[in-house]
Amino acid sequence: MPFYSYDDVLRVSQLIQDMPCEVSEELRGWHWREPPLLPTYNVKINASDLSFGCKTGRLAFLRHHVRAAEAIPEGLRFGKLVHRVIADATTTAKAILYCSKPTSGIDFYERFIDYLPMVVNVNGLSDDYVNAVNAIWRQAALAYSSALDKVVTLSKYLRLDGIVSRVVPWICEFPIDGRLLGLSRAIRLDALIPPALIIEFKTRRPCRDFEITLAGYVLCFECQFKIPVNHAVLLYMEFSNDKRSFKVYENILRIDDALRMEFVERRDLYASKASSGVDPGIPEDCDPFCPYLGVCRSGD
Ligand code: SF4
Repeated sequence: MPFYSYDDVLRVSQLIQDMPCEVSEELRGWHWREPPLLPTYNVKINASDLSFGCKTGRLAFLRHHVRAAEAIPEGLRFGKLVHRVIADATTTAKAILYCSKPTSGIDFYERFIDYLPMVVNVNGLSDDYVNAVNAIWRQAALAYSSALDKVVTLSKYLRLDGIVSRVVPWICEFPIDGRLLGLSRAIRLDALIPPALIIEFKTRRPCRDFEITLAGYVLCFECQFKIPVNHAVLLYMEFSNDKRSFKVYENILRIDDALRMEFVERRDLYASKASSGVDPGIPEDCDPFCPYLGVCRSGD
């Protein structure tokens, strides 16, 4: 992990089957035309802003009304790097499988490791960031080479497309359109395992705000594809201090009515503050990763 194998997909499917989840029909994404899902403001909220949990909604006021400049804190910059490397590793693995057609895990592994300097530019990155890049890339090399070894022993009649889908079962940065639910047009899911398992990676500590945002993604997915989604996955990655290694914690979530309503409330709060010209003020506590800390808390 975090690179899911086909066995991981089957394991998660089984776990989900053992986690029943009831969802009211009016809270399915395809009911976006009716309350409570119907957006009541024209403004489109950045989906990722929901994960900052600004309790007064000042974040939306600053972004959409004031158009204040944001400053990406260190922790978010690291998270962005991790996301990019996972997506690049996924794309590279598929490219090698399709174009070079490696016949064994070791053949794949060597090619994949050789590709790293061509795919990820580490110039200017600090040593610990480079360590993280190497750790993620090595993990992908191990996961996908072992998956290839397993798949090629299944049958000599397997065709390339089928092999690739078994070795790399997910699509990274899968785009969905959030506009019908009041979110931005180009939401990118960190990973989608067809037909409908949504996975998000996190490098920050677990919090409810991530779950609320994930519920928003699920609703947009339901809205677009008309497929019911009752569960989704948050993969928390915890790096060692020198970032040479990491642990992954898998949280399979029920996207139930309560979580869906929390998303609706957060979306409506942000949309109302983005639309009104009135500064809603600063909450007691701010998210330590909020990109507007320098604007709101410069004196702290
Ligand atoms: S710094 Fe605080 S008040 Fe300002 S946008 Fe972020 S969470 Fe909201």
